[in-house]
Amino acid sequence: MTPDDLKALIRDVPDFPKPGILFRDITTLIGNGPGLAASVAMLAEHARAAGAEAIAGIEARGFIFGASVAAQLGLGFVPVRKPGKLPVPVLALDYALEYGTDTLEVDPGAIAAGQKVVLIDDLIATGGTALAAAQLLRQAGAVVEQALFVIDLPDLGGADRLRAADLKVDSLVAFPGH
Ligand code: AMP
Repeated sequence: MTPDDLKALIRDVPDFPKPGILFRDITTLIGNGPGLAASVAMLAEHARAAGAEAIAGIEARGFIFGASVAAQLGLGFVPVRKPGKLPVPVLALDYALEYGTDTLEVDPGAIAAGQKVVLIDDLIATGGTALAAAQLLRQAGAVVEQALFVIDLPDLGGADRLRAADLKVDSLVAFPGH
């Protein structure tokens, strides 16, 4: 399956979750067996090449791809969670959204000091979410050098922001524009 095949499986939903946003919906990609398998295999190849010792995924769609890649490589999976979900004391980080702030949380016990963790999410737009996740994982003791995405929206600058924070960024497909 080629990147263009994957792109064809991603559904465009205009004006979701609010007017003016073109939502790139992976429901149709993960609903297609060969599409899901190819996406996971391509991400896993990048993670293997990066020397991953564990995979972290961002709630919720990053869990789908991240946990699949971890299982494929025989590695553990670290969930980067929305607030209030983890039943143990957490490390938390607030980060800015277009309007307001959001928070991500990690169980510090899920990471060994110096462990090489590759970060995975479905999509990078402005990069704020992934940057916060990488900072949180680094605070927890992880070495985070690589971030992987199924979809990049390059005109929103997120990948460049991550590269400025010493992260190597790879994605399977890109949608120029937004
Ligand atoms: P950002 O922090 O701006 O990079 O946004 C990335 C997060 O928001 C990811 O977890 C995506 O799932 C979600 N997201 C942002 N923009 C879109 C979009 N146009 N289509 C689908 N998901 C999006």
